[in-house]
Amino acid sequence: MLAYRHAFHAGNHADVLKHLVLARVLRYLGEKDKPYTLVDTHAGAGGYSVEGRYAQKNAEYGSGIARLWDRKDLPEPLAAYVQLVKDFNPDGQLRQYPGSPAVANLLMREADRLRAYELHPTDHRILASYLESRPNTQVADTDGFASLKGELPPPSRRGAVLMDPPYEIKTDYGKVLTALREGLQRFADGVYMIWYPQLQTLESAQLATRLKAAADAAAKKGWLHVRLTVAQPDERGFGMLGSGMFVANPPFTLHDELQECLPYLVEHLGQYDGANFVLEQRAS
Ligand code: SAM
Repeated sequence: MLAYRHAFHAGNHADVLKHLVLARVLRYLGEKDKPYTLVDTHAGAGGYSVEGRYAQKNAEYGSGIARLWDRKDLPEPLAAYVQLVKDFNPDGQLRQYPGSPAVANLLMREADRLRAYELHPTDHRILASYLESRPNTQVADTDGFASLKGELPPPSRRGAVLMDPPYEIKTDYGKVLTALREGLQRFADGVYMIWYPQLQTLESAQLATRLKAAADAAAKKGWLHVRLTVAQPDERGFGMLGSGMFVANPPFTLHDELQECLPYLVEHLGQYDGANFVLEQRAS
């Protein structure tokens, strides 16, 4: 059931896109004094060794964060994200990759509330220990989808949600859609970030369209959709071609920040000549 371990994928091109968006959203929310809440429904372990057995198996970080690590010509929002990863590696070598709760921990202020859900017992234990001393933080080993409703709206009515399920079971596609709809009903101003894999399946191909319709119906500040395609399918039509992030109620600054970074990401993370990106938004 819980076969997925993010340690195999830490720091890959999909993490780069996901954590770039997450970091921009949290920086934006941190610009106002009033505290905000981040609910991370599928938090993972918090941090991953890229030198460890899991990450070394396919060395996915080698075609992700490692390609950006030494660059001196990064667009500013990407440079700020790479700096976060450097802050997580105090000896200057890329040894650890920060997962979403660690990116959050690096950016959130003491008064900001972090709620992290992780079902896998080992990853939950590592995460709980990593966040043990962070104030205003709760780490739970319950289902993040089922628990989300109880978190919304957050007390300060300022907040963001990251949904990043494994999608190893197809029901995750329906669950992110339902969770977005229910979340917007309870907290229509919240920033909702949903990551998804770009695969050659119907569920993957249709997800963005469905999320857009849900946001059109209920999000107060519209939506943004970004997709970064880096690879071609293998000869059997399998493999992850890239990934996307759907953001309901995005910060108004996010579109231009991503526009600045995406051509660079295509050039440096693309694995074939047809690598490309999509960036679209609808302001309400
Ligand atoms: N968000 C993390 C990051 O960016 O570093 C990576 C998360 S990983 C893609 C998905 C995680 O969700 C896995 O660690 C898995 O054990 C966990 N998981 C799967 N189903 C879950 C559920 N219903 N509720 C909470 N966690 C779940």
